[in-house]
Amino acid sequence: MSVLGLGYVGTVSAVCLAEAGHTVIGVDPNQTKVDLINAGKSPIVEDRVAEMMAEHVAAGRVSATTSADEAIAETDLAIVCVGTPGNDNGSLDLTHLERASANIGHALADRDGFFGVVIRSTVLPGTSRNVVIPAIEAASGKRSGVDFGVVMNPEFLREGSAVYDFNNPPKIVVGGTDDEGSQRTADMLLSLAPPGDHPVIRTRFEVAEMAKYIDNTWHALKVAFGNEVGRICEPLGIDSHQVMDIFCQDTKLNISDKYLKPGMAFGGSCLPKDVRAVSYHARSHDVDLPIIYNLTASNESHLERAVKLILDTGVRDVAILGLSFKAGTDDLREAPMVEVAERLLGKGLRLSIYDHNVSLAFLTGANARFISEHLPHLGQLLDDDIDRVLDGAEAVVIGNGNPDFAAVVERLDPSIHVIDLVRIIDDGSELPNYQGLGW
Ligand code: NAD
Repeated sequence: MSVLGLGYVGTVSAVCLAEAGHTVIGVDPNQTKVDLINAGKSPIVEDRVAEMMAEHVAAGRVSATTSADEAIAETDLAIVCVGTPGNDNGSLDLTHLERASANIGHALADRDGFFGVVIRSTVLPGTSRNVVIPAIEAASGKRSGVDFGVVMNPEFLREGSAVYDFNNPPKIVVGGTDDEGSQRTADMLLSLAPPGDHPVIRTRFEVAEMAKYIDNTWHALKVAFGNEVGRICEPLGIDSHQVMDIFCQDTKLNISDKYLKPGMAFGGSCLPKDVRAVSYHARSHDVDLPIIYNLTASNESHLERAVKLILDTGVRDVAILGLSFKAGTDDLREAPMVEVAERLLGKGLRLSIYDHNVSLAFLTGANARFISEHLPHLGQLLDDDIDRVLDGAEAVVIGNGNPDFAAVVERLDPSIHVIDLVRIIDDGSELPNYQGLGW
């Protein structure tokens, strides 16, 4: 295969693929890098790469050239690892990727037989489909999906442990289209995958492209969050590392897939109150915690978006299924759906509400107080007969994850709007008037 772009990713890919027994021709416009590689030397400093390069160049498994035409004529697959640096305004500079795509297209113009193209560079959603494919087609006069295929295969290696990471990826994600060329390229790529029990995910281009950004954004969030924990612990004389060691030992709620799926705003009797309390405490010690302070604002803007989705349907009669902040509780304190209901009533909409866990007769203490302050007429809106609640509704809002609601959505007349705030059904795209909150 050819590897286009002999920086950190391309160099590591080249030596690791050679180590697995493949013959790799590296391509880079930088003559110095090409000369170094052909002399058996690594153009980057990275654990084990220098020895691997010396060995595989000597064995004829790795070579380099500045000519994409030359490399592509000799290979079946190109792995594109060119740089995609950021511009000052945060947008991506795609010059290298556009040029590499055009170079591939130029080489393909005179080449017979199918060719696979793998994008390993980190690119924003839509780039493989709307930038790479058109550039190759324009320069080659050939058709994507037929004469050549393109897939997006984000790289997850970390500098410093890149060879290990290349051979032990946390997952392999291959994005593409349903066309035969894309599928064939994915098969070619997966036949090169290092052995191991890492998950393999085949998906659409845009999902694969976005997955890489979300990983890195999450990693950045983890670092920044850990540092904010340090900043609040330090003035209080609390060992932040001990706190985070305890945090990390909770693999049920903290280091797990809990609380990470897009859905309704957070609420309930603990999260909003405790975020406010820790923020207050930090402010009183003059500690700046931009992430933690902004959690409440982020949550509020999410709740506003939910309200807007409902108002945008233009309907007047709305049924709400699920009022408490999660299924299986009658706790209404700071339940986001109570806030949603309050705002919809304020806009003059007529509501009927079903939540089989909530009975006004049983609400006491802080729970009852919260309702009397926010939804004093809840008694007139709440009905324990779901069919009566749905009767006459022009829109149905799913407010919590009570599993019974999925069947309700499926039996509704298609003319009724469904605003699903919790993704009660996995694929609402079949329903003409379905709208999810973030999907
Ligand atoms: P890099 O800047 O080290 O190397 C890019 C190479 O591409 C350079 O040698 C450059 O000369 C070459 N190049 C430019 N135009 C070319 C062309 N038309 N044809 C062939 N080669 C060309 O970049 P990198 O750090 O290896 O990153 C490459 C991509 O992988 C980026 O999109 C990056 O975001 C992504 N990525 C990087 C890492 C990492 O740890 N460095 C990890 C995962 C993903």
